[in-house]
Amino acid sequence: MNDMTPSPGFDVDRIRADFPILRQTVRGKPLVFLDSAASAQKPVAVIEAMKTAMETQYANVHRGLHWMSERTTEAYEAARDAVAALMNAPDRHEIVFVRNSTEALNLVAHSYGRHLLRPGQAVLISAMEHHSNIVPWLMLRDSHGIELRVAPISDAGELDMAAFEALLEDGKVGLVSITHMSNVLGTYTPAERIARIAHAHGAKVMFDGSQAIVHRAVDVQAIDADFYAWTGHKLYGPTGIGVLWARRELLERMPPFLGGGEMISSVSYERATWAAVPHKFEAGTPAILEGIGLKAAIDYVRAIGYPAIAAHEAALTEHALASLSAIEGLRILGAAQDRGGVVSFALDRAHAHDVATLLDRFGIAVRAGHHCAEPLMHRFGLESTARASFGVYTTQAEIDTLATALVRVREFFA
Ligand SMILES: *Cc1c(COP(=O)(O)O)cnc(C)c1O
Repeated sequence: MNDMTPSPGFDVDRIRADFPILRQTVRGKPLVFLDSAASAQKPVAVIEAMKTAMETQYANVHRGLHWMSERTTEAYEAARDAVAALMNAPDRHEIVFVRNSTEALNLVAHSYGRHLLRPGQAVLISAMEHHSNIVPWLMLRDSHGIELRVAPISDAGELDMAAFEALLEDGKVGLVSITHMSNVLGTYTPAERIARIAHAHGAKVMFDGSQAIVHRAVDVQAIDADFYAWTGHKLYGPTGIGVLWARRELLERMPPFLGGGEMISSVSYERATWAAVPHKFEAGTPAILEGIGLKAAIDYVRAIGYPAIAAHEAALTEHALASLSAIEGLRILGAAQDRGGVVSFALDRAHAHDVATLLDRFGIAVRAGHHCAEPLMHRFGLESTARASFGVYTTQAEIDTLATALVRVREFFA
């Protein structure tokens, strides 16, 4: 059980002190924030970086010839370097800043999907995708005649690898797009194996890393991915900025997604030519302050270190699974071998929304609903669940508070 022991030097109380919001009480109780998978809280380093930029170092980027614009451009572009290093991207020009994961997935569907996939080819997703990795493909299917295939999962919430491979056998799949970690089940998917199998059948592969990159180091070269998408606000960064990483060779071949300023090389009324990657995909004034905030978030995460984060969250998850499964009438969704800090559950006879509302009276914040994964809910015969999710600042005591409160909540529905 050594890998479950928090690493030496990881001090959750010290980490909590970095998050001002956690000092609050809610309904007279200490805030127990178990909704980090929807959006994580922000450390003071992120808040200060954005505030300092606004107070001392702010102008529009890339076009300015004045001192202030040059400094701001440097700070913003430093975020691109930080992202490239975080993901072990071979080339900083492969980092495209977008608004969030949803926009990254839509960019690939519109640009790669419409122009480099042919009608009659298929896109293969899994049965545990977030709506943002389903709906863009439905839209592409309807506009472009792409077939959408869905690889099934087991009752434990793991990807059925044999069925996955069988769906690639006819060679029609041009793109596999799969979550790297489920936001509902917590399941990690075997990314390297998925990429190997996809490539063996001539398909490109994209990962939705919105959850995965929060909890474990991601190395796009080790995975051998072609596209990787994630969102800043779940990694303790600001909203409004996300990342699409893609192989440069693919970005070069892909047409722009949005047109406007910043993404052109020249414009006349006859034609426009495109800026070099990644700027070709970054139309308009970017999220400058958010980029600066994202860099601060990445620096914060790297200073703690992924091994310590992963060990802390593994211990929390193990503790949560043990304490929640001991509650009579509580069903936990999924039981994957390889899973992260997300636990979805249903209480007998209780609607998930009522459970969340009652937990709120104890100062506990959990999410309830379909978690933007309606087809996955239906796969488990449910309309909704409650979900507790953990971050660097989550404590075992908070999970105990949740378990104790759930026993009380259950009495309402007995
Ligand atoms: C949150 C999430 C998304 C969407 O992220 P946005 O920031 O809302 O675009 C996509 N996929 C997964 C797995 C998520 O958890």
